[in-house]
Amino acid sequence: MSAEGVLELTAAQAVEAIAAGSLGAGEVFEAYRARAREDELNCFTWLAESTPEAGTGPLAGVPLAVKDLFCTEGIPSQSGSRILEGYEPPYTAHVVARLQSAGATLLAKTNQDEFAMGSSTENSAFGPTRNPWDRGRVPGGSSGGSAAAVAAGLAPWALGTDTGGSIRQPAALCGIVGLKPTYGSVSRYGMIAFASSLDQAGPITRDVTDAALMLTHMVGRDPCDATSLQFPEEIALPTAERLDGVRLGVPAELQSSVDAGAAIEPGVRECFERALGLAEELGASVEEVSLPHAPHALSAYYLIAPAEASSNLARYDGVRYGLRAEGAGGELLDMYTRTRHDGFGAEVKRRIMLGTYALSSGYYDAYYERAQRVRTKVAEDFAAAFERVDLIATPTAPGVAFGLGEKTEDPWAMYLSDYFTVPMSLAGIPAISIPCGLGDGLPVGLQLAAPAFAENRLLDAAHALEGAVGFDGSAARA
Ligand code: GLN
Repeated sequence: MSAEGVLELTAAQAVEAIAAGSLGAGEVFEAYRARAREDELNCFTWLAESTPEAGTGPLAGVPLAVKDLFCTEGIPSQSGSRILEGYEPPYTAHVVARLQSAGATLLAKTNQDEFAMGSSTENSAFGPTRNPWDRGRVPGGSSGGSAAAVAAGLAPWALGTDTGGSIRQPAALCGIVGLKPTYGSVSRYGMIAFASSLDQAGPITRDVTDAALMLTHMVGRDPCDATSLQFPEEIALPTAERLDGVRLGVPAELQSSVDAGAAIEPGVRECFERALGLAEELGASVEEVSLPHAPHALSAYYLIAPAEASSNLARYDGVRYGLRAEGAGGELLDMYTRTRHDGFGAEVKRRIMLGTYALSSGYYDAYYERAQRVRTKVAEDFAAAFERVDLIATPTAPGVAFGLGEKTEDPWAMYLSDYFTVPMSLAGIPAISIPCGLGDGLPVGLQLAAPAFAENRLLDAAHALEGAVGFDGSAARA
């Protein structure tokens, strides 16, 4: 098979071709490594120097790109931050190790917003990543390097993480598939932490089948992560082509996103409505549901996530990892301060300050505790909605990919990118983004959410819709 032919294959197709002997395992890796070396989008923070021995197992020979924040033994893992400059972890994150033991080989580490804080991959110590559909635009974030690499065909698939939308939103903006699994279904061991009660690893892929395939090799209890648990059933590769009997709920609150400043762009609304029409043609029923607290989710998220981040990031003091600034006169406290001053970017500092404030005595009840109450309400809303419907559908993001620099001066405008993805994160439920068309020539994502551990239902429905949509992502790989 020609190198171009190899690069056209999805991961599942590559697995098949390798198993059938029509393709050598090393061949796939070499084709991708050559292609990835020509990256002009700044997708990667590290790239394999040679083709390793092909692993054995069901994914043997399939190269894997991994977001920078996954610890990879002996390979730089900086979470997009200067403060982890030169850090090469002594161990590998559980999910990466799982995929490797299934035969996948590490091709690259991918660029991201620093400590996964952002929606554009512009907050990276390595500089911004560009969107392959339009290089003047962002790929979304924080897993923007992973999403851009997969969309551009520089990697067959990639691992991302999602705290409030960081898998789904960049997948939407790059015209590919991104799945955030149920919180706890995938171990967080070895993921450089942002907000531990929300962080979850998941697949970023060209299609839904690849997302399911990767997920089968990710889920499961890991004794090193006490919040991980056994997935209650086997993850199956999706086969559904119809949606007969599937009840799809559309939140009434989508309307009020306008008041929040997250108005849905006309091109996005058109694609979303067309996707709902396709779902009906496939046999689904579409009805309105109510998530009355969802409009408050973003505010709650921007207290809870920074609060957890301020605690998680306290460990970067210049003593144990990465960067160490010189303290004036050898002063320890001064060394801490300078290291954190030099090592963290502006957005990370903003979150640390917000989080520390929200957790401080006298303010804890007014902010952090109230945000937790809202979180519970948001989860209860979903539980009530899922009594009536099987899945909930929204646009993944209010708009298509925006211009580089367009939202960097206005943090709240940037935060609004996650208006539709954050509620599911707070509730811990699974959600997927699939491409559902183009608006102004740029990809639009459809988000589907399901009850906890209903990944099979979610993947099946996404697979059926994907077939009906027939999205063509080849322009980004050209
Ligand atoms: N954009 C959101 C934030 O900046 C979500 C990021 C994420 O999911 N990691 O926090």
